[in-house]
Amino acid sequence: MHSEPISPGAVKTEEQHRRDICVAGGWMHERGYVASTDGNISVRLGPDRILTSPTCLSKGMMTPDDLVITDLEGRRLGGSRKASSELPMHLLIYRLRPDVNAVCHAHPPVATGFAAAGLALDKPILCELVLGLGCVPLARYGTPGTSELTTAVEPFVRDHNAILMANHGVVTYGADLLTAFQRMESTEHFANVALVTQLLGKQVMLSGGDLEKLVEAKARYTSGSQAAAAELNGPVPPRGDATERVTLTRRELDALIDEALEKDRARR
Ligand SMILES: [Zn+2]
Repeated sequence: MHSEPISPGAVKTEEQHRRDICVAGGWMHERGYVASTDGNISVRLGPDRILTSPTCLSKGMMTPDDLVITDLEGRRLGGSRKASSELPMHLLIYRLRPDVNAVCHAHPPVATGFAAAGLALDKPILCELVLGLGCVPLARYGTPGTSELTTAVEPFVRDHNAILMANHGVVTYGADLLTAFQRMESTEHFANVALVTQLLGKQVMLSGGDLEKLVEAKARYTSGSQAAAAELNGPVPPRGDATERVTLTRRELDALIDEALEKDRARR
C-alpha cells in the first residue's frame, strides 16, 4: 500500500487525502525519518478543517480511519483518536501561510543531528538546494506540546518552507502533501551532504557570482506568474500560488553572497 504514488495537487476528495497521509506516513517510516510513534502529518481540507495523523500510533501503521479532523483551533471535529500534541505547530503554519495545504513533522536522523548540534543548514554548497529548498534555519528549543515550541518556530514560518527545531527535529510544508514530503526528503539529503563535507574537512561554497546566476536562471524559469526575482526584494508575503517560491529572502541571499565573496577574497 505504501508504494502507491501521491499525486501532486491539493484539490482532492477527503478519502484521497486520507490515503495520501497514510502513504506519506509509510514513506517517513520506511526512510527512517521517524521512530516508534514519532512524527505527524496534516492536510488542510478547507478553511477551518484540518485532517491529521493521530498520536500514539506508528506513522507506518496508520489506516485512513485512524485520522482525526480538527478546526484551526485544534478542536476535534471527527475521528475517534486524539490528534498529535504537536498539532498546534501545524495550525500555526496554516494560519500564517494561506498558500500551505500540507505539513510534515519528523525526526530524520542527520538533519535532527544538525538541530541537536545547534547548526542551521544555511551554507550554499549545493546549487539545486539553494533555490529549491533555500536556507533551512534553526529555531531555538521549545518543549513539544507547549506554546514554547510554536513561539520558537513562528519567526521563520513566513520566509521558509523547512525549519530545523533545536534538539528535536524538522518541520516542512508546501502547497500539497507531496511537496511538503519532498521538502523533508531534501532537508535530510542536504544534511547528509553537509555532514560529508564536514567529515572531509572541506566545504567549498558556491561563489557570489554562481549564486547571482542561479537566481537569474530561477527568475527566467519562473517568469510570468512567478516573479521570483521580485520576490527576492524583501521578505516574501504569503501567496496563493507559491509552490515554486524562492525560499531565500533578499537578506539571506546578500548574506550568502557576502560570505562567498569573503571566501573568494581569502582564496586569492
Ligand atoms: Zn517531534
